Amino acid sequence: TLRGKTALVTGSTSGIGLGIARKLAGAGANVILNGFGDADEIRRIREDISAAFGVQTGYHNADLSIATEISAMMEYAQAEFGGVDVLVNNAGIQHVASVEDFPVEKWDAVIAINLTACFHTTRLALPLMRQKNWGRILNIASVHGLVASASKSAYVAAKHGLIGFTKTVALETAQTGVTCNAICPGWVLTPLVQKQVDARAERDGLSNEEAKKALLLEKQPSGEFVTPDQLGELAVFLCSDAASQIRGAAWNMDGGWAAQ
Ligand code: NAD
Repeated sequence: TLRGKTALVTGSTSGIGLGIARKLAGAGANVILNGFGDADEIRRIREDISAAFGVQTGYHNADLSIATEISAMMEYAQAEFGGVDVLVNNAGIQHVASVEDFPVEKWDAVIAINLTACFHTTRLALPLMRQKNWGRILNIASVHGLVASASKSAYVAAKHGLIGFTKTVALETAQTGVTCNAICPGWVLTPLVQKQVDARAERDGLSNEEAKKALLLEKQPSGEFVTPDQLGELAVFLCSDAASQIRGAAWNMDGGWAAQ
């Protein structure tokens, strides 16, 4: 159980991050949410989690592309919750374009949010984890941390980089109670992916359902989406004592994508 521990999940106002935050709360952790969104909606999400699981919730609106805002978020976590025991680096963005057409500012934003932010949160969370000799760092990479797809150069570079970073942190903490691992999801139907479904529907003149099927069948052998709840269950397992010797792993949950 994670009762009495605090989990910070970046990008948890939507999609996978929200699914993971709910499962960690279900395992007893207090959760700090982060991400963009409507203030009333975020308040509702917090109330819902507190009521359902009897845990404390917090929220910080740091824009993870800005280092000083990340520092402010980590200070908030320390002041209000006594630090972060479970750090889930989940916030991420996608941009789809060929290398030669890739907008430079989009490249910078993808690397900043999907990779550099994870360095900042980790370096700021680690000292207290070491002091407590317990911690879990979960980096939500992607199957695109293991294999590439065309037109996703920044994302694939950031996610491959995040897996490398995960391994390094795992080695630096190998003889402590802190573990660091990556999770590599295949397609999950979140707003990030719905945009790609919409683009395909428009491009190929397909219905929403047809576009989803086409997207899945191209890459994901199961033909089914992974769900945020399933990823949340994996996150809870990686936080357990049973997982204390899982270190530096890049664990895929991808309907068979990376097996090809
Ligand atoms: P999403 O778009 O549903 O959610 C992204 C979250 O990140 C939101 O809460 C958003 O507010 C937040 N966010 C975005 N930019 C931010 C910024 N600058 N500062 C702070 N928060 C910011 O996306 P998702 O599909 O749930 O993706 C979550 C993670 O999972 C990402 O790292 C993504 O790369 C990864 N992932 C997703 C899939 C998929 O199929 N959906 C597959 C593999 C990996």
